[in-house]
Amino acid sequence: MKAELQTRPEDSELSTAARYSLSHHRASSTPAESTQEFNTAYVFISHNLAVVRHVADHVMVMYLGRPVEMGPKEDIYTRPLHPYTQALLSATPTIHPDPNKPKIKIVGELPNPMNPPSGCAFHKRCPYATERCSTEEPALRLLDSRQVACHYAADINN
Ligand code: SF4
Repeated sequence: MKAELQTRPEDSELSTAARYSLSHHRASSTPAESTQEFNTAYVFISHNLAVVRHVADHVMVMYLGRPVEMGPKEDIYTRPLHPYTQALLSATPTIHPDPNKPKIKIVGELPNPMNPPSGCAFHKRCPYATERCSTEEPALRLLDSRQVACHYAADINN
């Protein structure tokens, strides 16, 4: 968001100070600080999961334009429940990788987003897919602290 100041010549000293204040504010505030200060919220869209973890309180993970998991950030990052979220986080580099944590590799090609697969859009790449997944689109359902769109999320994470 860009703040524009309308100025007159006689206001130049004031507007310079105001500009400095605004630019300093933009440079020094994190989204979390601005959220509290202005009682507002940001929608931050990124493929960089490390940055998302740094700035977000709540996270929505999407696959081919559909939400697959959404909820409190810490819950999703420490225990992802959707197979796609699990694979994404498993592939995210960390400073202290856990050698006991298995890497989950997503296989297959990314489908055409203009013509997504039937049923669960992730079924052609999901290691848990069944026949049901190819025909029935899973709805977002409450599981633990978040919403998950997977027919078998409860079984997979038992
Ligand atoms: S609904 Fe089926 S294909 Fe989709 S994520 Fe769950 S198990 Fe995998």
